[in-house]
Amino acid sequence: MDRLAEYFEKNEDGSVLCCLCPAECHLKQDQVGICGCRYNKNGDLYTNNYGELVTLAVDPIEKKPLYHFHPTKNILSTGANGCNFACDNCQNWTISQEKVRTIFVSPEKLVETAIHHDSFGVAFTYTEPMIWFEYIYDSALLLKEAGLKVVLVSNGYINPKPLQKILKYIDAINVDLKGIKDEFYKKVCKGKLQPVLDNLKTIHNSTTHMEITNLLIPGKNDSDEDIGKLVNFTRN
Ligand code: SF4
Ligand code: SF4
Repeated sequence: MDRLAEYFEKNEDGSVLCCLCPAECHLKQDQVGICGCRYNKNGDLYTNNYGELVTLAVDPIEKKPLYHFHPTKNILSTGANGCNFACDNCQNWTISQEKVRTIFVSPEKLVETAIHHDSFGVAFTYTEPMIWFEYIYDSALLLKEAGLKVVLVSNGYINPKPLQKILKYIDAINVDLKGIKDEFYKKVCKGKLQPVLDNLKTIHNSTTHMEITNLLIPGKNDSDEDIGKLVNFTRN
């Protein structure tokens, strides 16, 4: 479903600047952002994926992966088309870079579905949940009201303001720190490292439970120097 998006600036020439994530796409009429789900409609920014789910599945929490947050429990998991990265190694590329058919599920229905499946919450995963901001925010409010947990599996690529707004409703997050070199982020993920590092610090200083994933790709990000720097970053 299309919906007016949050976090954008309007320009006099009818273009808009999306301020949701550090890609900060500058979009002319009908132009779609890098994530494939936010676009300029008559000088306003719209999202085209509100409530549009590519899948709904009940997974072990360890599959997210989260190993220290309600271990052994199952969680209803869902995701949308689109991503603000384009990682060479994306295992979900058919939904992150291409589009598949979706079903509309309102935030209210999502909560009902979680309760129906006896799930202790909902995990937003599979692609990048932050670009699904409006839907996740609305759903998170209702999930919290129902006493359920909200989980995100994210690349951590979001701007500080929206992160601060949504973080207080997120119980747990796994952030994929894909490497420790900006060059790696540029070449392999088509993004930037520093905003992810800044966001990891913000989340670490919040009450949200955080775990970090680092996928090793032979010859790309697995040198002793890379691993040493990454471990030192997480220790500090
Ligand atoms: S959320 Fe999408 S449209 Fe907005 S800046 Fe990021 S990639 Fe661009
Ligand atoms: S951030 Fe995740 S979903 Fe997005 S392209 Fe990279 S691996 Fe795929």
